[in-house]
Amino acid sequence: MEEVRLQKFLAQSGVASRRKSEELIAQGKVTVNGKKVTEMGVKVTKKDVIEVNGIPLTREENVYFMLYKPRGVVSTVSDDKDRTVVTDFLPGVHERIFPVGRLDYDTSGLLLLTNDGEFTNKLTHPSYEVDKVYVTKVKGIPTQKDLQKLEKGIRLEGRKTAPAKVMILSRDKANQTAIVELTIHEGRNHQVKKMMEAIGYPVVKLKRERYGNLDLKGLAPGQYRRLTPKEVKDLM
Ligand code: URA
Repeated sequence: MEEVRLQKFLAQSGVASRRKSEELIAQGKVTVNGKKVTEMGVKVTKKDVIEVNGIPLTREENVYFMLYKPRGVVSTVSDDKDRTVVTDFLPGVHERIFPVGRLDYDTSGLLLLTNDGEFTNKLTHPSYEVDKVYVTKVKGIPTQKDLQKLEKGIRLEGRKTAPAKVMILSRDKANQTAIVELTIHEGRNHQVKKMMEAIGYPVVKLKRERYGNLDLKGLAPGQYRRLTPKEVKDLM
């Protein structure tokens, strides 16, 4: 049976973040099989009875999904303005899932959702380098010279972007727009919009087509599917 560290177990059970879980342990609020544990690193399995403030936990199985997020949807689990949120599209899922990173309200495309905090931390960490492919419609028709700036990396808010792969998929001369494919592995806020804006071609429409080895094949906007164990493993 899989052994995990107590703080990880708490985080995966949705009790609190990993850091907060460590605090709970240090404060003596956690017991394992009736014994108070205050040091870090104690390993537990599903068979152990764990209580926080005297309340026993049940650990949820980790679940992983991909959603074809439509435009006009917020990448959260609840919204104070009552707008549609991404978890509204997975009504049959009873685990406490949340999105891995975000897509903007007006961006569509591939979004991962899980209840696995470790998986999310790993995939959204700045040093984690999985390619994400975006297709964007921009105002204006970018020149090769301008696109090369993105390939070299540009300064955004004082920090250089990592080299991107960029390709023009089509040009609409009559309407002065173009469709551009961008591959990046960073996940800064509004990164694609800011990159295109910085070289003079504002984004009109944006969609995330791929995330690592995953693509949207077989899904229509608003549809989701479970990831296979292999797909999850490949992402880690
Ligand atoms: N870049 C953006 O600008 N927006 C997104 O939603 C994703 C990447």
